[in-house]
Amino acid sequence: MRVALKECSWRAVGEDLVIVFDPRESITLEDPEGKIGALLTALGQGPRSIPELRAALGARGVDVTEEELGKGVEGLAGLGLIERAGGRSTGDPVVDERHFSNLAFFGTFADLDRHRTDFLRRVRDAHVLVLGVGGGGSSLVQCLAGLGVGRLTLLDHDRVESRNFARQFLYRHEDIGRSKVERARAWVQAYDPDIEVRTVDRWVAGPEDLADVTDGIDLMAGGLDGHPDAGLWVNEAAVRAGVPMVAGGATRTLLSYISVNPGVSPCLACEFSQRPVEGTAAAAAEDIVYGMRTTNPLIGPLAMQVGSLIALESLRYLTGFQEPLAAGARIRIDLRDGLAGSRVPFPDVPDCPVCALAPARSAAA
Ligand SMILES: [Zn+2]
Repeated sequence: MRVALKECSWRAVGEDLVIVFDPRESITLEDPEGKIGALLTALGQGPRSIPELRAALGARGVDVTEEELGKGVEGLAGLGLIERAGGRSTGDPVVDERHFSNLAFFGTFADLDRHRTDFLRRVRDAHVLVLGVGGGGSSLVQCLAGLGVGRLTLLDHDRVESRNFARQFLYRHEDIGRSKVERARAWVQAYDPDIEVRTVDRWVAGPEDLADVTDGIDLMAGGLDGHPDAGLWVNEAAVRAGVPMVAGGATRTLLSYISVNPGVSPCLACEFSQRPVEGTAAAAAEDIVYGMRTTNPLIGPLAMQVGSLIALESLRYLTGFQEPLAAGARIRIDLRDGLAGSRVPFPDVPDCPVCALAPARSAAA
């Protein structure tokens, strides 16, 4: 096996070696004999096997045993600095080129066991149900397509209107009056013909309207509008199907997103069950917010933020590059204060009737 060094830099300072991979953190190692520095230099010249490394170090006058080298390589792996060389390319130059930056991103999280191509394969094998291709949804579709999600089912029942253009950059002037899901499909297919797209052009008036579209789905993402309970319907459909869901939205300049991992995290119904005591001002304010219908003030920069936050959380579920940040929680981002964020976990509701619908999961799931 050949190992490859990730893009990092290092410098000897006295008997120490300072290594930087992620600019947020530097690593300082004791290296009095300069062996680690020599190992990094040899690896920096290209992928090497242990015997090749030993020869390269020997040529520089650094005498080490294969056992010592094995430990050194293990140490670098533990620090997240190396990965398996064969895991960097899919073997298809067209795919490697198209997903050049995606592969580089996954490289941060790759190691000797998880290849950057494994992360990409998971994305390309995934089937995501996108709920709503309007405000946040049209940016979400573009992000998912850019990541290379292999199959998309797009659900919406709206037609393209002139008033959508402030924030829905999937659509063109000539699309006015036409089905959004059909135009979104055309966009995806023109963008990446490898992505399979299915469209569902219908209204959703309850969780049962989603029951027939969750088969074979790995994740539900987006958010339906039009009814205050729409989020709860999606939640129930996702929990019943045992499929994670990610949703988000904006109220004026407050963005928020949530995710639900059925059977693992609390669900949106758990959050809703935690209502303030009836008759209090807090309950009244919440009721007003719940029923509030404002003229849609969602502008492009906000809609794109919502779409991208949902896409990134979706990527956490699909690849496991990081644990989902919003599982069983609401993450709020207040743009009045720049990007001030807060994370409010949903309450644990042991008798939540919706959580009880989650299919049993095996320990491995
Ligand atoms: Zn629940």
